[in-house]
Amino acid sequence: MKCSVCGGAAVIKLRHAGLRLCPEHLVARVEREVERAIRRFHMLAPQERTLVAVSGGKDSLALWHILAKHGYRADGLYIDLGIGGYSGRSREASEGFARAHGLSLQVISLKKELGATLDELVKLARGKTCSLCGTVKRYLMNRAAWEGGYQVLATGHNLDDEAATLLGNVLRWDEGYLARQYPVLPGEGKLVKKVKPLVFLSEREMAAYCLIQGIKYLYEDCPHAEGARSIALKGVLNELEDRYPGTKLSFLRGFLSLHERFRPPEPVELRDCPSCGMPTAADGPCRFCRLKERVSHGAPA
Ligand code: SF4
Ligand SMILES: [Zn+2]
Ligand SMILES: [Zn+2]
Repeated sequence: MKCSVCGGAAVIKLRHAGLRLCPEHLVARVEREVERAIRRFHMLAPQERTLVAVSGGKDSLALWHILAKHGYRADGLYIDLGIGGYSGRSREASEGFARAHGLSLQVISLKKELGATLDELVKLARGKTCSLCGTVKRYLMNRAAWEGGYQVLATGHNLDDEAATLLGNVLRWDEGYLARQYPVLPGEGKLVKKVKPLVFLSEREMAAYCLIQGIKYLYEDCPHAEGARSIALKGVLNELEDRYPGTKLSFLRGFLSLHERFRPPEPVELRDCPSCGMPTAADGPCRFCRLKERVSHGAPA
């Protein structure tokens, strides 16, 4: 198999892009796609301080690597959720990467911030694990970015993640979620701008990028991912992609070209949470502070 660009030995075939690439040209393609997404959606400028949320997995570590390599002022943030032995291993992968590349990583512990690990929280509060996890992660990521004076918060969501989220939103015809699904969410007040520069890159490309660049990432998935709806949606899309290469990319690109047709819900007025000072649509304390209160009483939600 020959590289479509240089004719050298190709190591990966990207059917959706009609390309076979050698290591050098796979790396070039991934980095070019990241730069293109950054420019097209005005995600970030080199002088802006960016906080990259890392999980120890391939996508977030590769994103951090690319931003740092291309001269962006990118620091890392790792949230230790306290998920069995998995969190320790994902923390080690994130810390190991930061050390090996001389990058600065902030570590936040959910146990310290909330008084409970995610595993303990799930036992106390009613609600699905991933939904509770999403709530606490969104809060802690934004607060860390705001308090740290960062202009941008970047996450490693890739094409597979975004196509699966889109399919889930379409199946429910959830107009509010569709309106909010975009590679950039502008900042407002204490809500820091959020960006997803890997939006057009597949999981396979990101895994190959890490392998070629010698990025040591955690292969293991979070134990709670098993049985999650997002995994079922990814499975359906993978079957379609196998039969019709390019399905995920055209699904997402088509949606983005129609995006302005989806209307966001009526804007809600945000207030400062009386407890932590971060923005909330609630009348009283924000959801994180209410969870914290319940944890402190040890009572079910
Ligand atoms: S799979 Fe669910 S619980 Fe695990 S990190 Fe992702 S959102 Fe959190
Ligand atoms: Zn080549
Ligand atoms: Zn609060």
